[in-house]
Formats: sequence, C-alpha cells, structure tokens
Amino acid sequence: MDDRTDTRPEGTDFIRAIVAEDLRTDKHRGRVVTRFPPEPNGFLHVGHAKSICLNFGIAEETGGICHLRFDDTNPLTESVDYVEAIKRDVRWLGYDWGDKLFHASDYFERLHDYAVVLIKKGRAYVDSLSEQEIRELRGTVTEPGTESPFRSRPVEENLDLFRRMRAGEFPDGAHVLRAKIDMAHPNMLMRDPLLYRIRHAHHYRTGDSWCIYPLYDFTHCLSDSIENITHSLCTLEFENNRELYDWILEEVEVPQPQPRQIEFARLNLDYTVVSKRRLLLLVRDGHVSGWDDPRMPTIAGLRRRGVRPEAIRQFADMIGVAKADSRVDIGKLEYAVRDDLNRVAPRVMCVLRPLRMVITDYPEAAVEELDAPYYPRDLALEGSRKVPFSRVLYMERDDFREDPPDGFFRLAPGREVRLRYAYIVKCEGFEKDPATGEVVEVRCTYDPGSHGGDTRDGRKVKGTIHWVSADHSLPAEVRLYDRLFRTPDPEEVEVGDDFTQNLNRTSLVVLGESRIEPSVAGDPADLRYQFERLGYFWQDAEDSSPDRLVFNRIVSLRDTWAKVQSRREAGPGRLEGSAAAGRRDSRAAQVVEGPTQRPTSGSAEAPPEVRASAAETAARVSRYTEELGLEGGQAMLLAQDGPIATFFEDTVTSGAPPGEAAKWIINELPRVLEGREPSELPFGGREMAALLSLVEGHTVSGRAAREVLEEMAVSGGEPREIVAKRGLEKITDEAALRALVDRLLSDYPDKVEQYRSGKTGLIGFFVGQIMRETGGSADPRLARELVENALA
Ligand code: ATP
Ligand code: MG
Repeated sequence: MDDRTDTRPEGTDFIRAIVAEDLRTDKHRGRVVTRFPPEPNGFLHVGHAKSICLNFGIAEETGGICHLRFDDTNPLTESVDYVEAIKRDVRWLGYDWGDKLFHASDYFERLHDYAVVLIKKGRAYVDSLSEQEIRELRGTVTEPGTESPFRSRPVEENLDLFRRMRAGEFPDGAHVLRAKIDMAHPNMLMRDPLLYRIRHAHHYRTGDSWCIYPLYDFTHCLSDSIENITHSLCTLEFENNRELYDWILEEVEVPQPQPRQIEFARLNLDYTVVSKRRLLLLVRDGHVSGWDDPRMPTIAGLRRRGVRPEAIRQFADMIGVAKADSRVDIGKLEYAVRDDLNRVAPRVMCVLRPLRMVITDYPEAAVEELDAPYYPRDLALEGSRKVPFSRVLYMERDDFREDPPDGFFRLAPGREVRLRYAYIVKCEGFEKDPATGEVVEVRCTYDPGSHGGDTRDGRKVKGTIHWVSADHSLPAEVRLYDRLFRTPDPEEVEVGDDFTQNLNRTSLVVLGESRIEPSVAGDPADLRYQFERLGYFWQDAEDSSPDRLVFNRIVSLRDTWAKVQSRREAGPGRLEGSAAAGRRDSRAAQVVEGPTQRPTSGSAEAPPEVRASAAETAARVSRYTEELGLEGGQAMLLAQDGPIATFFEDTVTSGAPPGEAAKWIINELPRVLEGREPSELPFGGREMAALLSLVEGHTVSGRAAREVLEEMAVSGGEPREIVAKRGLEKITDEAALRALVDRLLSDYPDKVEQYRSGKTGLIGFFVGQIMRETGGSADPRLARELVENALA
C-alpha cells in the first residue's frame, strides 16, 4: 500500500482506505457523498445503526455529506409511519442529514425517462411472459438461460407497450420491462433482469400516479447517480448486483465518475435477530409489545430500554467494518452500554425483592440523613444526596441466608454485614411465615461506632449490602430485561421449527414490590442510574409517572451469560433464564413477581428456589464439564438445581449422550414439568434416555420426540410404544420422498433458481417444506440428501 495511506485517520478500515485514496487522487474533485438508504417497511435495528455510523461517520470525518434516502419503490409494504420512525432514530443516533432528505419515489419520472433511453438504445424490452415463465427460462448456474420470444420486439413496439403500461392499460403481471443483456451470462443477475413491473397499488407518497414501479437494481444505482453519490456502501449480499449496477449506469450514460458500490459485512448479533422481516413477525404475533419493546434490537427498543446513542456509536466503532460476514457477540453491545453508563450514571440504592430488617436497638422515632456520594471516587464527578436511615429497613431477600453456603459473606444468623453508607449490623434472629416457611423479617443490632462502615476494634466485616428505609423509600415496579433469545443463533432450529422456538421465556421479569430511596423523586425523569450492586436502570418513558415509578433494567452490572465463574461469584442469587425459572410456565414470555398493576399476558409465578449449596454445585459443574464434556453455561444450569441435576445424571447413567441429555433437559423438560419436580414425573431418566436414543437413531424427528415427551409427562409409558401408537416413525421410504422432492422443485422454481445461483441456504427451505408436508415424519437427513441431489 502507498505510504501516504498511513496518515489515514485512526480506526480506519478498507472502506475508509478507499475513500482516502479517492480523495488523494481527487477522483471526485474532493467530494465525499455517501447515503443511508432504508426502505420504509419497518423500524431500524442495530444492524442499520452499523450502516448509519459508517455512512454518516465517513462523511463527518472527511468533511463530506451523507444523504438520507428512502428507498421507497414497493407500495405494498411501505408507510409514512415507518418514514417518521426512521428519521427519529437516525436523529437520535446523533446524525444530521441537513437538507439532504430524498426519496427514490421523487425520481419516478426521471427513472422512467432513463428506462425509455434504454429502450431506444435497444437495451431494454417489454416482455409479456409471466414472471414465473421468466424465472423458468433463466437457466441455472451451469446452464444458460433461454431467450424470451418477445426479446426481439422492435423498439417502436417496446416504446408503445411501455407507454401503455404506464398509462394503466394492462393488469398486474401482463408485461414487464427487462434489460437486454445476455441470457447466457455467468452472473445470473445479468440474464435480462427485470426493471419495471406493473402494480396497481397506492403508494404512500405518489398516491395513484403510478402503476408501474421500478425494481431495486434499476432504482438504486440511478438514485445514487442522480444524487451525485461518490461511495455507495451496502452489505455483502449485493456483491453480485454490482455488475448490474455498473452496467445500468454505463448504458444510460450518467455523468462520470459514476458512484462506486462497495460492499461490507452486515452485522449479525448473537442472541437476537436483525432482520426487519423477523422483527415484524415478533411484533405482529405479539411475542413482544411492539417495535420499541425494550428487548428488541431496534433502535427504538434500545432507546426505550435506556441505552444511550453514545453506546451504540461506541459499539459500531468497536466492531469495525470488514468484508467477511460474521456473528458478533451481543456481550460486546452490552459491554459498550455498561461502559458508557458507568461514566455518567449516579449511584442510588433500590431493593428489588424486599425483606424487612428491624434494627432492634435503634431508637424508634429516630431518622438520620446520611450523606452518600453519587459517584465512585475514580470518576471524578461531584454530587451527593441524603439517604434516610431508620429503625426499619428493607434489604434484598437474596442477601439473607438462613443457612449460608461457603463463601457467602452477606447476612446470616449471628453474622455481621455492612450497610452501605451506614452502620455494621449483626443478625440476631429472624421470623418466618408459619404457613409458607418463608423468612419475612430479619432482626439485627447495630454497631453505633461503625458509622461510615469501619469497625473500631479492627474486626473484619467482609460483606456490604444495599438497603432502603422502609418508611421513607418509594414503591417501584422494576422490569428486568434479558436477552430475547436463549440461543446464540436463533435461526438455528431443528427442521420444521422456526426461530420463535428459541425465544427466551424469561426475557422479562417484572418485580412489583421493589423499593427505591426517596432521593430519586426530585430527579429528572430521564436520568439513568446505577442501582448499586444491581445494574443500570431508568424510568420507562411510557409507563412510569411520579405516582407510579416503573424502572427498566438497561443492563446488568456484569455479563451473567459469559462465564460460569461470574455466576459462582454472584453466589446464590436468583438466576433468570434458568431451568428452574422456566418450570412454572414455559410459554410465558415474562415472569411476574409480587403485585404489579400492569396487565401482563401469560404471567407466571416466581419459581421456587430449588438450589443446591455452592460447594455441591461447583463440584457438579466441574464433573459435567471435565468428565461429561458439557459447556460451562449448560453445566451450571443443570448443576445449580438439585432435582434437575439428579434427573440429568440418571439420564446419562441410562446411556444417553451427555450433550443431548443436557440440551433436552434444559430446553424441553421445563416445558412439560408444569410446576412439578422431576421426581414427580411419571417417568425417569431411563425413559428419557430411551427417548433420546430414538432421536439419535433417527427413528423419530426432534419434533415428534417432543410430542412423545409431552405424552410421557402426562401418562408415562415407553417412548418406543408411544412412537408406534402415534405413528411417529420417520418416513424412510426413498421413493415416496423422491416424488415429494420432485413436486416441490416444480412448485418453487424461483427458489430453485436462487439456490442454483448460489443461495445454498435455501436447502433448509426445501427440507422444511418436506418436513411440513410429511407432518414431520420424513427422515430429514434423507430429505436433505435427496434435495441436494435433485438440485445439483
Ligand atoms: P433487513 O434485512 O433487516 O430487512 P434491509 O437490508 O432490507 O434490512 P434496508 O432498509 O434496505 O433494510 O437497509 C438500509 C441499509 O442498511 C442498507 O444499505 C443495508 O445494506 C443496511 N443494513 C441492513 N441491515 C444491515 C445489517 N445487519 N448490518 C449492516 N448494514 C445493514
Ligand atoms: Mg433491503
């Protein structure tokens, strides 16, 4: 590379290098013009944020301009509401398009004129085949296509037909306009691509003025040229389109130098989906409360959750821009959010699950106003508030243990703990609800000499806990948000299932009885806090009010998904998303604890704490990971829950492969437990292992096995017999399957063509169809093999 490129701005990447080089050679007379071109058919997501930061970022760094252009050529899916939402989101991210707001629909007239130019040059023609026929004649990667019988229409006839298409003389689908390139072109997209189609549909901006609409490939390059874009940045899936992009610009003879398309890797984020189509489905089917549900990876969702735009921009910086597709760990986004908030969020105390603490030797009516700084010393930020201390406090339920395991340094009978900003207290006793056995009050004495946290005699007190004054604290609802999906790649599903199978059923836990220190009452409603020891929170913009505080958890203080180690350190805190948490109602998308005024669908009670001692758990975790080869997170989920661990061990002892057993027990067993302990099921580890061996041996599909599991959970029985009785064996008859494959290929010629032009991911689609048509009983391996052969 040229040594001058070394003076490129920091954090550079291959696109910035190209831009710098073009500036150096003065290719565009010193101009840099980029654009962000969303289609207004949904809300923007964090993947779009990457593109926004890239396009606006490059313009900013080079003194250039970035346009906001709505790529609105599909009247059926677009709306002005989406336009407004997109503008709001781009602005919120901190970018300004000035007066450079454009719409592809503004160019309809000019695009039409360009089409006429192509027709006159003999470079485009009106085809009267159906789109289906056109697809069928397009050939395959290995075979050339076949020319349409209408390809040699005289220019005059083409002009006349195109004019009448525009005038609305023909119904949808009667004709299309195609480029005339080469039906044997190695790039399938160059085999006389469609430029216009007839659509008698109302457009949100142009109304009914048009009934022909240009396609993406025709519109995009010309819009770029019309706006004098210099660098047209798009995601990798458009790599093959570049040839057509350049062809069209050259043929209509746009001014030189023409814009250059450059592709970069799209952002794929673990534990979520970034595709408008998928997100729309989550909204439509009610899996989330809307586009701005705080669990959504949309900009609107992140905003409502409390993430700041600074964090998203920092994240975009962190992940950089590359040319190879990859998945990004969502932990990186969470890290950026945490890092950003750590620097700005005042610290306050909130007790999520309150347990009453009475300081028996503290005077009845006394109230001390303790001075508490808002920020830790290392932040060099000023500010403090007063926190009232009195005889009756609330502490976190999880911070008390009647029978503390090793390594538990918080409160337990006879033990001391430090109350943050206040005194050291000693637990002298506690009281249980005789009916439920639940601890309802802890009684302590305090050390008046320990104000500020230190003992006078040098005795050690390891733990510090947060608290609030019972009488002075304010009631609050707290919503604990977690990852929307429980698997890194939600699209990875068993044949026949869809990505919603992988939704995290406890991605929202609503706590209705939390208590927060009173200082927050005087704060601006949009202030983001760190609740000490818990995470970052802010008031929900829709549901919170001074009379009824509702806080969203933006992000926890550390990554609880990353490693088992952090779970061990966290001690016996409650684990959302664990097998135990899913026990009551696996369908509930959220868990509600304590009274809350919010109507919640499919709510479930808090799970009972079924927890093993820390030592036991640790021993199991190491056995599961070292001897059985489980991954740490899986091992922890099983190990921390005694009865589940026992069931798992029984299953493995009965011969099931540990990995499969773990997967099924973590993901599927909670579904059928319905509040029972595993030991209360009418079957045990032996039957579980028998079921898994049917799956392993390809006798039944995963879906069928789930059905069997459901029956086993109701009435017990031998898996093999249930399979036979229900006729769930897989179809392994090759001839029957082959016939089905043949039929499918002729039903979906477009998919076949896409597959052959390189979209090999479509294999899943075909196998999925087969599984659907056979009610899940086809052998998916065989189905896959047959489809692959047929498509080869
Ligand atoms: P989706 O696949 O979610 O429907 P899209 O590509 O259809 O997205 P557009 O509105 O057409 O959505 O996208 C606008 C711009 O954002 C395009 O330039 C596109 O390449 C870019 N973009 C979309 N998704 C991502 C992503 N995940 N990562 C980076 N850029 C993206
Ligand atoms: Mg798109």
